[in-house]
Amino acid sequence: MTPHPVKSDQTLPDKADVVIIGGGIIGASTALELAERGIKVVLCEKGIIAGEQSSRNWGWCRQMGRDPREIPLAKISLDLWGQMNERTNCETGFRRCGILYLCQTQAELANREHWLKNHAIPQGLSSTILSSDETDRLTPGSSLPWSGALFTKDDGRAEPQIATAAIANAARSKGARLFTNCAVRGIERSAGRISAVITENGIINCDTVVVAGGAWSRRFCTNAGIELPQLTVVNSAMRSAPLDAHLPHTMAGEEFAIRKRLDGGYTIAHGIISIADIVPDSFRLAGAFLPALREEFKNLNFRVGGRFVDEARLARFWNMDETSPFEITRILDPKPSHRLLERAYNSLAKRFPVFNDIHIEERWAGIIDVTPDAVPVISAVAAIPGFYLATGFSGHGFGIGPGAGKLAADLITGAPPCVDPHPFRYERLVDGSKFEIY
Ligand SMILES: Cc1cc2nc3c(=O)[nH]c(=O)nc-3n(C[C@H](O)[C@H](O)[C@H](O)COP(=O)(O)OP(=O)(O)OC[C@H]3O[C@@H](n4cnc5c(N)ncnc54)[C@H](O)[C@@H]3O)c2cc1C
Repeated sequence: MTPHPVKSDQTLPDKADVVIIGGGIIGASTALELAERGIKVVLCEKGIIAGEQSSRNWGWCRQMGRDPREIPLAKISLDLWGQMNERTNCETGFRRCGILYLCQTQAELANREHWLKNHAIPQGLSSTILSSDETDRLTPGSSLPWSGALFTKDDGRAEPQIATAAIANAARSKGARLFTNCAVRGIERSAGRISAVITENGIINCDTVVVAGGAWSRRFCTNAGIELPQLTVVNSAMRSAPLDAHLPHTMAGEEFAIRKRLDGGYTIAHGIISIADIVPDSFRLAGAFLPALREEFKNLNFRVGGRFVDEARLARFWNMDETSPFEITRILDPKPSHRLLERAYNSLAKRFPVFNDIHIEERWAGIIDVTPDAVPVISAVAAIPGFYLATGFSGHGFGIGPGAGKLAADLITGAPPCVDPHPFRYERLVDGSKFEIY
């Protein structure tokens, strides 16, 4: 899952309108939107472009099954994905392949119908429930019939190893400047508002900063005096060699989730379970995450291991002339869970025997950042004028990345927001609002 390389610009400017911290899909999409609006934007990435979640994800671009608060952003994002190859003048791998949630039992089907009636139909999505026969026609080679499926024909897929690079390079071609191996240590304020960022390579004066730091955003914010409740989970995936399975749709069923890749192989993962490492923040944030834990408990494997010590050793507070944690770990590269991948593979091969004895080319994992209500923060932070967050994408940020970048740019430039920004406001996480989990 090595991302397509993006070269760094060389000389750090002393001034910019906006500095974006983080070169994942959210930072790159925000940079592209701002550059297209004529804003002087600089993006700083501590490692390489898309080195963390944005190259490691499954590549699903879905509206289906989304939290209702995210559906408007997912709809806009699918439209933006549809234009992305042309806009970036590059292949991003986006295809409207359709996504299927396969159901084995009537209870699963009823659950999917509930989402369809309550959220998809009112918000005008194309999702439908397929009968058992209709599902079987879309899943040739299945060893047993399915009870039915939830299907969204205009959902899609894109290639994580190339898409963010394409977006970042397009941002540069529109005037953005990109610096890799360039950690941002912190912010400087003047009369209370943002006046500069301090990077490991020098200072950039600016009056607006966007933190799009994925799993690092909480640490950055803590040092800047902003509380951002954010935890992480580890999710694993693998890819097969090219295979003619006649299954072009992205789909999940039982314990597997698969997506046909542009290279002819499949990205395969356990469709349900992630690993929650116990780290010092697990205790600090236990209260905020309790409602989410109650909902997700069965989908999480808790683990006590090396990450507790690694995270405990990393500084929470540092001075601007000191090496920051972002320079100590350039790229988060957790070990994949072979046990969960084996379970995914067994479930897949049992249902679709064509996958028996396939060659697995690569296994990997990524660290996903989550908020207490599993909805991102795309928002100004009122306490520090000029400080914006675009983070906490809770496992959904690849698909909704283009829309998130557009919304962030709207908020920064004062343009009418492309979707209602209220569900994504920062204050909900710290003002005692009740967390709603869907
Ligand atoms: C295995 C897996 C499967 C997934 N599947 C899907 C899927 O199918 N569909 C979907 O929509 N989403 C999926 N996701 C989630 C999706 O990948 C993320 O939500 C999305 O990539 C988040 O993008 P980001 O830009 O916020 O974060 P990241 O891609 O993690 O980027 C953040 C970047 O910020 C940099 N950074 C942090 N702090 C600093 C600093 N101080 N200075 C400079 N740089 C800094 C980091 O180095 C990093 O490169 C999956 C995630 C994983 C791990």
